[in-house]
Amino acid sequence: MEKTARAADKAAEKAVQRCIDSACGATYGLRERIYVCPRCGGTLEIDCHLDASGDAAALRTRWAARAASRDPRDVSGVWRYREMLPFDEPIPFVTLFEGNTPLYHGPRSAQYCGLDDLRLKHQGCNPTGSFKDTGMTTAVTQAVVLGARTAVCASTGNTSASLAAYAGRAGLQSAVLLPRGQISSGKLAQTLDYGALVCEIDGNFDDCMRLIQELGDDPSIYVANSINPFRIEGQKTVAFEMMEQCLWQVPDHVVVPGGNMGNSTALGKGFQELLDLGMIERLPKLSVIQAEGAAPVARLFATLDLKKTDGGANLPETMAPVENPRTLATAIKIGAPVSWKKALRAVLRSSGKIISVSEQEIADAKAIIGRDGIGCEPGSATTVAGIKKLVAAGHIRADEDVIAVLTGHMLKDPDYVSAYHRGTLALDSGSKDGSAAPQPIHGAFQNSPERVAANKAAILATLERRR
Ligand SMILES: [Zn+2]
Repeated sequence: MEKTARAADKAAEKAVQRCIDSACGATYGLRERIYVCPRCGGTLEIDCHLDASGDAAALRTRWAARAASRDPRDVSGVWRYREMLPFDEPIPFVTLFEGNTPLYHGPRSAQYCGLDDLRLKHQGCNPTGSFKDTGMTTAVTQAVVLGARTAVCASTGNTSASLAAYAGRAGLQSAVLLPRGQISSGKLAQTLDYGALVCEIDGNFDDCMRLIQELGDDPSIYVANSINPFRIEGQKTVAFEMMEQCLWQVPDHVVVPGGNMGNSTALGKGFQELLDLGMIERLPKLSVIQAEGAAPVARLFATLDLKKTDGGANLPETMAPVENPRTLATAIKIGAPVSWKKALRAVLRSSGKIISVSEQEIADAKAIIGRDGIGCEPGSATTVAGIKKLVAAGHIRADEDVIAVLTGHMLKDPDYVSAYHRGTLALDSGSKDGSAAPQPIHGAFQNSPERVAANKAAILATLERRR
């Protein structure tokens, strides 16, 4: 009997939106258009009500069979796991065939970290080049289910690009709110190409966020910001796909970058659900790595008495934000991550760590990942930099099974890569009057272009010198 599969089939009928604040715990229907708890303002998550008892093998077999199917729901690396998603069939699902991302071995990265082996799950190989797509397929589907006409967000980076692409796919209008005068066309190029309306607002980023919240009251609008719990539902499927790729052998450690903490939240939820369904026998230790200049959760983690947190059951009430986050890893340049509580809970439940790494460590780790033939954006490289530190600190043993999650593609930020290899990369001092000099980042694995005479002998001589 397919008990687990049946239990999972029931998920959409019974699923609710639940406030994660333990003192509140209010629940709401899936079709209520809310983004935070209306009662206490707390963060919401989807409780899928998965049944703990059942035949895990049947669900695994069903998922494996879908890998050979041409049904669009099965070609998507998110909707293939639809028993675990809070949607009823038939689903008006919006897909660009997201997910299905590679799990690579990275021998040079492993050696750099002091590990026997290291695998890299490259979420940058999604349709718009970042992990956001796995969450946007479910969020934009929810927008369609709710009958919204426009999906909105405030983001300068990967979220905007992903929202614009999926809204375009669904035939929905999408809009991105940004402060006027602070829009770099490079980062928004994808967003413009996918047809989103970019609204230049007379105000700062906080004003944009406030306006997004106000717009959420309008029935024609759907808010696809990081706080949206339906994005986490799609993003959690990376845990399922990863386990299939690992042939259901649970890795010892899974390490992810930490910006808004949605990714670590989602992975933690995905693994927890597999554990609840009896599909895995233990959780991998989930660790999160932040950039030193944007590390509010790592700072909080360092002050925690781990015994008092009771495996994530007792969470601190507040976290001090970083007022002016500073890092060249723009994807994780976030001073007040919205999903910090859910992510912290997932890390504590699995006995993982939250630490930070320097700009130099990020840059060098990125270059080493590149030498393995794998191109990621700077934020993603925090993982390899963090693993190196966790190995040195004894939290990860050299012979353990470790997976780093890379979140974005190298081509998201080619200027950074070029500057590193040419030796011109530097972090702005952040001083208000601009008096302090930028902090240079040394290209330890620099690979700058060489000027070579236009003849064969000169080229061969250069090749020989660089061998
Ligand atoms: Zn609440």
